[in-house]
Amino acid sequence: MLYINGEWREAASGKTMDVINPATGEVVATVAKGGKEDTQAAIDAAQAAFPSWSRLTAKERSAYLRKTADILRSRTEEIAQLITREMGKPLAEARGEIGLALDYLDWYAEEAKRIYGDTIPASTPSKRLIVLRQPVGVVGAITPWNFPIAMITRKLAPALAAGCTIILKAASATPLAAIEVFKALHEAGVPKGVANLVNGSASEVVGTMMASPVVRKITFTGSTEVGKELVRQAADTMKKVSMELGGHAPFLVFEDADLEKAAEGAVASKFRNAGQTCVCTNRIYVQKSVADRFAEIMAEKVKQLVVGNGLENGVNVGPMIDEAALQKAQEHVDDAVAKGAKLLCGGTRLTEGEYAKGTFFAPTVLANATHEMKIANEETFGPVAPIFTFETEEEAIACANNTAYGLAAYIYTRDGSRMFRVAERLDYGIVGINDPMPTVAQAPFGGVKESGIGREGGKYGIEDYLDYKFLSLQLEM
Ligand code: NAP
Repeated sequence: MLYINGEWREAASGKTMDVINPATGEVVATVAKGGKEDTQAAIDAAQAAFPSWSRLTAKERSAYLRKTADILRSRTEEIAQLITREMGKPLAEARGEIGLALDYLDWYAEEAKRIYGDTIPASTPSKRLIVLRQPVGVVGAITPWNFPIAMITRKLAPALAAGCTIILKAASATPLAAIEVFKALHEAGVPKGVANLVNGSASEVVGTMMASPVVRKITFTGSTEVGKELVRQAADTMKKVSMELGGHAPFLVFEDADLEKAAEGAVASKFRNAGQTCVCTNRIYVQKSVADRFAEIMAEKVKQLVVGNGLENGVNVGPMIDEAALQKAQEHVDDAVAKGAKLLCGGTRLTEGEYAKGTFFAPTVLANATHEMKIANEETFGPVAPIFTFETEEEAIACANNTAYGLAAYIYTRDGSRMFRVAERLDYGIVGINDPMPTVAQAPFGGVKESGIGREGGKYGIEDYLDYKFLSLQLEM
């Protein structure tokens, strides 16, 4: 259902869309498919709600966010089940994602109270110079399917904390967790029009947001291709943009690293969410002297991963989101093998027995990867781990930076100087040092180059929802 101006509605067109469980092919739910008219109604509602919402005290807005978080927290288990059904990740990961989603709400409930301005020394004795921070206005937010709840609260929480009102479009594959977030906002008593949910046709919903002069900011998480298009469209009404886009993360393993821990980290970074996260390792570079040993340890660990329906106990890797995602993974593997990569495990779609109706791909490790392969140059977004080798630190840095992407990178080494030497020269927004899971609510998340513009999380994440207003006062002396 759509949530517009404090009410649950069907789409004005009456259209609906099915939500499919990628583990079973079954229809999980049928929901409203919003279009232009619904989006315009949501924009009008957000515009009308903005003056009163932005004038609330920070403490009042904070209380709404906290209450929303508490309601969602009490429903963790049922929402985790919904997430697993709508997009396949194992239940334990779905619970973890909800924890992160709540962290954003909790963090920004506090950060709302810390939006400070400045006073600036004037150039003449009679002047006073003051800088106010004010909310940018109505925000349009667009989120992907791979983190159906955390990507929503990472936008919604700072926007509402700053005093903005919002229209959110969640991915069509995963509207159910989004609906739960808006149910919680409603139950928490967030005033009508402040937060609106319009799932549906991307071209109609996002197109209407982009064309509207009322929407002053667009915050998008998704593919680089769509992000670039939205930046172009934003130019016409000069909207602020925040873009959290694709990644192609390098994972550098130096010969002094703890190889067990490095392999464990590579498996965690590569195979969670079936390899479908923007910060997932996509290229593993190992120093030549330890490459064979590392590949052996890694393949052993990957062979232990249990693939299956994420609702079942003990499953580590769920299905991929759809057929197109499977095909891309297969294409990357086939291309790599044809160009000389050695398949250490996996390599194909799983089709037998319990896998027959879902979109499962066997966790795959490829050795002897080279830069001519597609996998070296494109985001795979699937459970395929290619291992490349390097000789020197200089070469490792050059290989890591040899991409248009710049979201996350990982380094495994026990040499403290090398940690800084390498991290400082990596063209990435996030560097995990002996740490495969760097994302936390209080730190800046985002990329450089074609991985995006802006940061989400922590004190940095609220900046993009605020404008500066400079007051210059002439006093009578
Ligand atoms: P996507 O195809 O770009 O879709 C993301 C969102 O944009 C969805 O809500 C989608 O709606 C909408 N959309 C699709 N085409 C559009 C268009 N032409 N105009 C306007 N909106 C459009 O990306 P995805 O496949 O859902 O997500 C995977 C990508 O997201 C990967 O590249 C991944 O790296 C990236 N990602 C980045 C981050 C980050 O923080 N940097 C985090 C997570 C994911 P529909 O669902 O209705 O098509």
